[in-house]
Amino acid sequence: MKFISTRNINSITGFRTAIFTGLAPDGGLYNPMEDYDLGDIFNTFNGSASFKTICRSAALKLFSPEIEKSTVESIIEKAFTFSPKVHILDKKISLLELFHGPTCAFKDFGAAFLAASMEELLSMENRKALILVATSGDTGGAVARAFFKKRNIDVVILYPSQRVSPLQEKQLTTLGHNITALEVKGSFDDCQRMAKEAFLDRELKEKINLTSANSINPGRLIPQSFYYMFGYIAYKNSAEDIVFCVPSGNFGNLTAGILAHKWGMPASRYIAATNVNDVVPEYLKSGLFIPRASITTLSNAMDVGNPSNFERLKALFNNNNQDMNSVIHGEAITDSETIQSIREVYERYGILIDPHTAVGYRAARNYLLKNGRGKILILATAHPGKFTETVYRATGIEPEVPDTLKMLMDRPKRSIIIDPSIEELKTFIFKHFV
Ligand SMILES: *Cc1c(COP(=O)(O)O)cnc(C)c1O
Repeated sequence: MKFISTRNINSITGFRTAIFTGLAPDGGLYNPMEDYDLGDIFNTFNGSASFKTICRSAALKLFSPEIEKSTVESIIEKAFTFSPKVHILDKKISLLELFHGPTCAFKDFGAAFLAASMEELLSMENRKALILVATSGDTGGAVARAFFKKRNIDVVILYPSQRVSPLQEKQLTTLGHNITALEVKGSFDDCQRMAKEAFLDRELKEKINLTSANSINPGRLIPQSFYYMFGYIAYKNSAEDIVFCVPSGNFGNLTAGILAHKWGMPASRYIAATNVNDVVPEYLKSGLFIPRASITTLSNAMDVGNPSNFERLKALFNNNNQDMNSVIHGEAITDSETIQSIREVYERYGILIDPHTAVGYRAARNYLLKNGRGKILILATAHPGKFTETVYRATGIEPEVPDTLKMLMDRPKRSIIIDPSIEELKTFIFKHFV
């Protein structure tokens, strides 16, 4: 699989370089260069095919022969020890549950694939890498868990002291082994600045194979297209058009769905569901993309005022607003509608959903009111037990916290406190990893 930069179509690179650099040298994002034809997959498989089987088939078409068949198979085998599940609500609406992975949110899929790919490629070359991530909470947890005990890889996480939730902090600080948590006396912006400075630092670059694992890395993006394929195949026998509804923030998840679409998945439409941080639904309406400061909401993993994947999404539609409108429908949902939706889903279907999924549910209902047609698969992006307070506020019921998360709360926190300075970070890295 070859990638091109969103800023220069002559900047072409292979999968290996793309995942270890993350970003193109010109500052653009990597998109797949070719339009693959995965149409076979949607004819061959039926609802009884396992997620791994579908992933293997898709990954071989995308990555082989550049990457050897046995390596691709081994990556899939190691990455996907968990699977999405389809949960039917009624004739019109189902959930594609993406929260059955180790940190109970959809980011596990991308992180697991990236970690398995890096481990395989590094061991073939007998090289080591140090992954540096700045996190405001959830992403760091998914990355830490995915890279835990991966050979030839160390992970350093920068997180803002006292500004992440207790559960998030436990996800970052209790693993140990190859995962080190640096507790920065500063804000998330400080953490991000330190990471950026480290990636630009000459001395570090010379002495160490420093790499990132953030959400724009194509190694996290591509595998996210696999669960759309799985959802489509599980649902495909319906006589009606299939519509995916995607709770969105940085728009990586939706972009992956559009990739599956380009590769021949016959879903008819995609709903971009946001909270009041609605710069993309606004762009769809007006043709103007106007980034702005983010607003805090109950669906906080989607509080993004300048979505980093928008440049990528736009490039996939050749920067044509009309083309994007023919495939994507935008809906923005308020916090009070989010609360109402959690309550409505509980009353109608007897299940609890998290606030991000609730944004998707409301958007799906709005879409049906406007369009009538279509069977909708809503991507359920997080387990309700990660957002107990909001779910309780909406329903009066405490959702069950999954065991994998409960266990963490009893583990001792281990972090190293540092000042928000690149010099301190460099000193730490040189002392421990060179
Ligand atoms: C990250 C996240 C989102 C937003 O996904 P994007 O790919 O950034 O659009 C939605 N829901 C949850 C629970 C998340 O963690």
